Amino acid sequence: MRSFLILGLLLSWASPVQAQNATTSSVPLSERRVSYTMDVKLDPGARTIKGTQRLTWRNPDSVPVEELQFHMYLNAFKDNKSTFMKESGGRHRGNTAKDTNPWGGVQISSMRIADETGDFRPEIPFQSKSDLTENIRFIQPDDGNADDQTVFSVQLPRSVAPGETITLDIDFESKLPEIVARTGWKMTESGTPFIFAGQWFPKIAVLEIPGQRYVPIDAPKGVWNAHQFHQSSEFYADFGTYDVTIQVPESFVVGASGVQVSETTVNGFKTVRYKADDVHDFAWTASTDFLEYKQQWRHVAIKALIRPSHKGQAGRHIDAAVVALERFADWVGEYPYTTLTIVDGIGESNGMEYPTLITAGTTYGLPTWARPLELVTIHEFGHQYFYGLMASNEGEEAWLDEGMNSYIESRIMDDAFGPGSVLDFGPLKLNDIPLQRLMYVKDNPSKGALFTRSWEYQMGDYGKSSYAKPATVMNTLERYLGWDVQLQFLKAYYAKWRFKHPTTRDIQAVAEEVSGQDLSWFFSQFVYGTAVVDNSVQSIGSSEKEDGKYVSTVRVRREQDGVFPMTLRVTFEDGSVEDFEWDGRDSWKDFKLTRESPAVEAFLDPDVHVLLDINRLNNRKVVDDRANNRFARLAQLRTISLYQKLFFVLSGLF
Ligand SMILES: [Zn+2]
Repeated sequence: MRSFLILGLLLSWASPVQAQNATTSSVPLSERRVSYTMDVKLDPGARTIKGTQRLTWRNPDSVPVEELQFHMYLNAFKDNKSTFMKESGGRHRGNTAKDTNPWGGVQISSMRIADETGDFRPEIPFQSKSDLTENIRFIQPDDGNADDQTVFSVQLPRSVAPGETITLDIDFESKLPEIVARTGWKMTESGTPFIFAGQWFPKIAVLEIPGQRYVPIDAPKGVWNAHQFHQSSEFYADFGTYDVTIQVPESFVVGASGVQVSETTVNGFKTVRYKADDVHDFAWTASTDFLEYKQQWRHVAIKALIRPSHKGQAGRHIDAAVVALERFADWVGEYPYTTLTIVDGIGESNGMEYPTLITAGTTYGLPTWARPLELVTIHEFGHQYFYGLMASNEGEEAWLDEGMNSYIESRIMDDAFGPGSVLDFGPLKLNDIPLQRLMYVKDNPSKGALFTRSWEYQMGDYGKSSYAKPATVMNTLERYLGWDVQLQFLKAYYAKWRFKHPTTRDIQAVAEEVSGQDLSWFFSQFVYGTAVVDNSVQSIGSSEKEDGKYVSTVRVRREQDGVFPMTLRVTFEDGSVEDFEWDGRDSWKDFKLTRESPAVEAFLDPDVHVLLDINRLNNRKVVDDRANNRFARLAQLRTISLYQKLFFVLSGLF
């Protein structure tokens, strides 16, 4: 409490930075079950963030709640016994914790029910038992690993009534790890640590009430949805408000979620205050090296914090963000926040999303013909929607954030930059939509359903099934429904589910409602199941009849378990072309065609609607054998694969 009073005095003479709301709305946009006020101080030498948190939580349930659950994500990097470290074998996305003191963690020194008790009923005495510190118990709901301290439960001295709020004061200290899993510190060239504070504070979990997500509407009470921090899992939290005051040495430049409302400097220390509304997390960054670039786009103040060696690429970051802002506004819905900060971080901090704050990153001298910078910026911006606004449970249904976002990312990249959107080097052009498809096709396409908890995937399947495959599934759905219907679907999904926590069931319901179609065949095969599509033209032949007509037979085959309707385009010797529809159900089917002229070519899915078809080399047969030559096509495929690898090496960001 004391520090807030001091801040209040300071504010009286502090020059306001910018009188700006955090969102475009004057009324709450979300349910706001939580509200955080934090006052913290960075010690860059010790790599610690120490401070206080005042958390107000409202019981959304219709029954009293006696227990709260919290996440302590930083404890995933506490030692090598955490579930995260055990699952990743000390490695995460290619990085190894190798510095002399790479470990981090978060400790609560005190947790108390606040003096100002919100609307707690005063007749119930709990002051004598208001210190909850001793009640903190680490729990391991996912794997029972007793050494994992990423989730805790705290028993309350009395219950929180339905609709009532409880206010807690928490003193905590976070020790940042050397950058791992998108959080931590890393030394810069100038000898000061770059700080990226993500998943850095004690954070209350989500009490899912009856009717929310998969909790049955007639369940007797809500259940806490808290998962440990796994190697391949992200986050899930309630929407609310954040008011965060951060003190850093004067030389540090800070970027954070939300809107900066003040900045003061006293005795070599800078204090910045940020407010973020209708978000479900708060992250910040600090470095002595950042160069600040600003640009206004409509209602959005865009800021890029760029490392000096990359300053020539600041414009590319901002331009890519504008490309994404424009298309999301047109295709999905308006970005409701008034700020967007793009951070050019270091190493593994790059390529991450937090509310209104993203990390992108680049490499020195990145040529303009390679666009990993644009791709990552657009991708991370897209998470403001698929994660930020449509705040699905990322651990349980990762495809709804990473997959939907990879889909729109591929759509935006190819729309904005045209042929060679990802890599445009002379005649070699690589686009994002085919790149996503290739990553799905080449990597055990029959393994790992989209609808899988992230930590339950077998090795390697998480990446494909949360990114490339769902992107390809959605690109295929778009071609099946048509772009106009797909647009209505995206807009309806945004309109219905923004500031909420949609599930796989919810997104399917919106797609079905908008399209007027039962899409259970599609979702059961490609979202809940692992069906693989591979249809082929097996043979084409003709015989001449006595009346001078020809009977041509085209045999098509379903090579795998996946059923997908396809167009069969047949070309006849006289140049005429006819399309036939095949429902793709039977394992094979003959098309017998009696015409004036024999069939010379049969082509399944000639307009490339079914991107899920894992092998397009067998989709076409012609009567002239020379044209069946596969070598040319195989060579082409190898070239694409080679450039895909080159792209990964160049980007260094995946
Ligand atoms: Zn992502």
